[in-house]
Amino acid sequence: MRRPIFAANWKMNKTIAETEEYIESFAELLIGTEHYPEIVLIPPYTALAYAGKILDSMGIGKQALLGAQNLFWEDVGAFTGEVCAEMLVDAGCQYVIIGHSERRQYFLETDEIVNKKIAAALKSGLKPIICIGETKSERQGGKTFAVLESQIKESLDFFESNDLSDIVIAYEPVWAIGTGLTATPEQAQEAHLFIRNQIKNMFGSDLADNIRIQYGGSVKPDNVKTIMIQPDVDGSLVGGASLDPDSFFRIISFDRK
Ligand code: PEP
Repeated sequence: MRRPIFAANWKMNKTIAETEEYIESFAELLIGTEHYPEIVLIPPYTALAYAGKILDSMGIGKQALLGAQNLFWEDVGAFTGEVCAEMLVDAGCQYVIIGHSERRQYFLETDEIVNKKIAAALKSGLKPIICIGETKSERQGGKTFAVLESQIKESLDFFESNDLSDIVIAYEPVWAIGTGLTATPEQAQEAHLFIRNQIKNMFGSDLADNIRIQYGGSVKPDNVKTIMIQPDVDGSLVGGASLDPDSFFRIISFDRK
């Protein structure tokens, strides 16, 4: 059984004060409820360490884990503006997003860079959430599976299956991110199954059966269920709808029956 994982990617939103306010409200919703999915909050760098403290002081540090939105692959040195894996661990992070489509689009991240970042994260004990997905023109051109296949192959090049037991893959069709367009449940299931089979071909059934594959792309409280009940969908990476604690809580606690 794979435990679903829901992660709130706040992107470039929220000051420290707004982070505190969010976590206080979220804790009120979470405390006393039984939550089966794993929950990860992913604030901007500036709020990370403080968010970790507030999660602990509100008593939900074990229920809601902390993640970062990016990292640099080197360990230390003259890399102005960058943050390494060890700094994220020091700030309290357990997860890190790698290769988000906004980083690929605006900061020209390639699969080769994603590969180096995954290695840096794993070396420090951070669990990578690796984002892959096709653009609108790639989908329209019938290239979705070819794009996913090459992203997986190149991002996970040089790794052994033993290295990868803690990774999470986020299937995020680029045309669905922040657009209000969502993949249909059938499109999501088809892509997730393809990804799982690709992992099986590369690393064997054990990893393929256990790896968690999140869906991301305009997930909201009112559309979460139809996608999450697909057999190969193991939770969601949520952007816009995670910025409000009530909305994110409704997403993680959708009616599973
Ligand atoms: C994301 O940023 O990973 C994302 C899925 O965003 P949104 O939910 O806003 O589409």
